[in-house]
Amino acid sequence: MSEGAAKKEDRRKFQAIKGTRDLLPPETALWNRVEQTAHAVFATFGFGEIRVPIFEPTELFARAVGGDTDIVSKEMYTFEDRDETTVSLRPEATASVCRAYIEHGMQALPQPVKLYYIGPMFRRERPQKGRYRQFYQIGAEVLGGSDAPAIDAEVIEMVMTFFDRLELQGAQLDLNSIGCRECRPKYVELLRAELLKVKDKLGPDSQRRIETNPLRVLDSKLDSEQGTIATLPRIADHLCEDCAKHYAEVKHQLQLRGVMYRENWRLVRGLDYYMRTTFEITAEGLGSQNAVCGGGRYDGLVELLSGPPTKGIGFAIGEDRLILSLQESGKAPAPQGRDVYIAWMGERAHATAVRAAKDLRKAGFSVELPPVEQKFGKAIGQADKLGARFALILGDNEVASGEWTLKTLADGSQQRVTEPQLLDFLRKL
Ligand code: AMP
Repeated sequence: MSEGAAKKEDRRKFQAIKGTRDLLPPETALWNRVEQTAHAVFATFGFGEIRVPIFEPTELFARAVGGDTDIVSKEMYTFEDRDETTVSLRPEATASVCRAYIEHGMQALPQPVKLYYIGPMFRRERPQKGRYRQFYQIGAEVLGGSDAPAIDAEVIEMVMTFFDRLELQGAQLDLNSIGCRECRPKYVELLRAELLKVKDKLGPDSQRRIETNPLRVLDSKLDSEQGTIATLPRIADHLCEDCAKHYAEVKHQLQLRGVMYRENWRLVRGLDYYMRTTFEITAEGLGSQNAVCGGGRYDGLVELLSGPPTKGIGFAIGEDRLILSLQESGKAPAPQGRDVYIAWMGERAHATAVRAAKDLRKAGFSVELPPVEQKFGKAIGQADKLGARFALILGDNEVASGEWTLKTLADGSQQRVTEPQLLDFLRKL
C-alpha cells in the first residue's frame, strides 16, 4: 500500500455492517422494559432462563433446522475455527436449547423442563423494515415426556399474557395443526396431486414448490394464486385420529384459558420436525413483516440430536418487531430525564454535592453531578437540556445554613429544604 493510500485508509469512517444496527438510549429503555417484562411473566409460569452460546458447530444447525432450508443453506454466518472445526453464528436457539438439554442430562430433572432465552440471532437475509441480519429473539421451550395439549395451550397463554402486559396492539393468534409423521406425508401427497391439477394457474415459484415442498405453496401471498389455493384440501380434514384429538383438545384448553385464536389452515412450517400444534402471532404497525412470534410442537427433535425420546414445544418472538410495533402504537415510554441536577459552586459546596448525589442515588433517584464548577445560569440551562425535573442549588449560603435550594424546572419555583426534607419530598412525588 502506498503511503497516501495508507493514510486514506486510516481516515476511513466505520459504519455498522449492513443489516446490523446500534440500539441507543432512549430506545434501549424500551428494550429493557420488554425484557424485564419477559423475565417477570415467564417466571410466573415457572420458566427458568437459559443462556446458550452465540456460536455452535455448524452441524448442530444443519441437523436440527435442516440442511436444505434457506436458513442453513444460504443465511448462516459460518467460519472455520483455528482447530478446523466449522462453526456458525446461531440463526435460532431451539437447536442449542435441545443440545443443552441433552448435554446436561436434563431428562433427569422434574419434567417438563421449561426454559426461556433472550438474545441475538444471525441470518444473512435481505434487510428491510423489521428484518435484520442481527436480530433479537425472546423464546421459550418446554421439553419432557408429555405432549399433553394443556402444555401447548399454556405456552400460548404465556406469550399472549406477555403481549397483553406490554399492551401490544392488535395481537392476532393464528392456530393450526400440521399433523404428524403418520398423517402429514399422506396429506402432502394429496396436496401435491391436487396442485398438479391446477399447476397452470400458479406462478413459477409455486410450480417449483409442488415438487420441492408443496406445503409452502400455502404460504403464497400472490394475489393471482389466492382463488386457486382456497380450493385445495385442508390438513385439518386429513389428520389421523390422534392428531385430530390433540388439536381439538388444544383448542378446548385455549378456550378454558380465555385465549382467542383464529384457525388458519394455511399456517405451515417448512421444517420436517415440526408437528401438530403450529401458531403464529401478528401485530399492528409492521407492514409486510408483521409476524412477531412463531411457534409449534417439535416432538422428536431431541432424538434427532442423539438425545432420549422427548416431546417439545416452543416459540420465538422477534423482539425487534415487537419493539417496532410498540413504538408505532405510542406504547414506548417517554424518555426518562434526570430527577435532579446538582448545580454547585465552590469547594465546600462540591463536597456537599458529592455526598448529596450519593445519598439521592442510593434512594434510587437519577442524579447529574457536573464534574466541574459552572455558573448557576449555565448549570440551570444544562439541567433543562437534560430534561431534569429539579435543580438542587448548592452554594456557600446553602452549605452554611444546611438549607438547600430546590428549583422546579417546569415552573421555575424555588423552595428551601434540608436534606431529609428533600428526600421526603422526592419520595412523595
Ligand atoms: P423463526 O425463528 O423464523 O420462526 O422466527 C420467529 C420470529 O423471529 C419471527 O416471527 C420474527 O418475528 C422474528 N424474525 C425472524 N427472522 C428475523 C429477521 N431477520 N429480523 C427480525 N426478526 C426476525
